[in-house]
Amino acid sequence: MDEIFIQTEEQRAILDSVRRFVSEEVTPRAAELDAQVDPVDCYSPEIVEAADRMGLRTMTLKEEYGGMETDTLTTAMVIEELARGDLGISVVLAQTLKIAKHMERVLNEEQRERTLIPFRDDPRAIVSICGTEPANGSNGIIGYPVPYTTRAEKTEGGWIANGMKHYISNSNQSRFFLVYMQTDPEKSLVDGATCFLLERGHPGFTIGRVHDKMGERLANNSELLFTDCFIPDENVVGEPHGGQAIRRAFGPSSNIFAGASILGVAVACYEKSLDWSQTRVQGGKRLIEHDGIRAQIAEMKMLIDASRAYIHRAAWLADHRDEGWDMTLGSLPKAMASQAAWKIATWTLEIHGGHGYMKEAGVEKLVRDAAAFLHSDGVNRTLFLRAANFIDT
Ligand SMILES: Cc1cc2nc3c(=O)[nH]c(=O)nc-3n(C[C@H](O)[C@H](O)[C@H](O)COP(=O)(O)OP(=O)(O)OC[C@H]3O[C@@H](n4cnc5c(N)ncnc54)[C@H](O)[C@@H]3O)c2cc1C
Repeated sequence: MDEIFIQTEEQRAILDSVRRFVSEEVTPRAAELDAQVDPVDCYSPEIVEAADRMGLRTMTLKEEYGGMETDTLTTAMVIEELARGDLGISVVLAQTLKIAKHMERVLNEEQRERTLIPFRDDPRAIVSICGTEPANGSNGIIGYPVPYTTRAEKTEGGWIANGMKHYISNSNQSRFFLVYMQTDPEKSLVDGATCFLLERGHPGFTIGRVHDKMGERLANNSELLFTDCFIPDENVVGEPHGGQAIRRAFGPSSNIFAGASILGVAVACYEKSLDWSQTRVQGGKRLIEHDGIRAQIAEMKMLIDASRAYIHRAAWLADHRDEGWDMTLGSLPKAMASQAAWKIATWTLEIHGGHGYMKEAGVEKLVRDAAAFLHSDGVNRTLFLRAANFIDT
């Protein structure tokens, strides 16, 4: 595959070390971890610790929090590289890089001190952001005028929370959480929700079921349960009932990094397809010499290059808003990359013939992984609807 569009020597050095990390720490273990029956066993805290040693867990943060303030474009390149090795590892770190950065921006100074310093000093610390609940998935993405069912009622000095979240990436393993809850029951999740900061082990806040996923298995997802959970006022992020403003600020980087993760899977599929078609002989010549396959390989490359260009443009503009940012860039790059990845993964299966259906080929894992971002970070159809809301129709 062509080199990612690298602009600086610093980016090259970072990407070289990410490639080393993937080949030494991720590739040798990914298939075995993916095959574990209990989803909890698919998660590797050792890999997170190895990523921390290379600065990959904190790189988006300021130096005082252990980072080097990588920009959105460089971070997107890193996330794509990680996903070439394994999608789950890419998601564990992408969530952590973007949510911790979001925390750095939206927490007040006291909250930053009590979360980002322990986060920096704990090499296994990862983080979660928690909106989805059984009754509200796409509603939260599009911003429909309905309330969250997870509620926090005002009491002396704080709030009493009850309800549950589900599908939350990293959550059974996370140390810190940003959680959206309804605090004004008369209003909708758009104008009546509050974002709360919580630490693992907070009384009344427990982990529920860990979801057994079809793919992206090296990342865990779980339910979060709140039972008469007292949350002090000091844990409100921003203003009470101001959750949507916090959520909106998270949107662009979330979508861009989700797109970068799934793009890495598309690249892994493409490389496998190219390799197999250059080796496998049918009809007296290599598959790559048959016009149907040749054209398919070229179309795969086109889909990858176009998705990457879209992601990189959105990533650059996310840091240079005055140069032409528009709000659809916070929804569409992931939709495009995930559709491309799904098409490329199914073609990869086809190009490998019967061999691709056998687990030993490693293609079936890529197909399971490729499905993850058709839904994660917003189902594509709902992202199209959200983007349409920013177009003057
Ligand atoms: C791997 C994974 C990781 C995730 N990680 C997180 C996380 O870290 N934090 C978090 O908060 N959430 C997370 N989610 C949740 C994810 O954001 C939701 O699954 C997603 O928003 C869809 O919600 P839903 O599953 O309830 O589907 P639903 O909202 O029930 O949607 C079902 C179908 O109906 C369609 N639909 C819904 N509304 C409309 C409409 N108005 N018009 C047309 N069609 C519509 C959808 O497009 C979809 O096809 C994760 C999900 C997955 C799969």
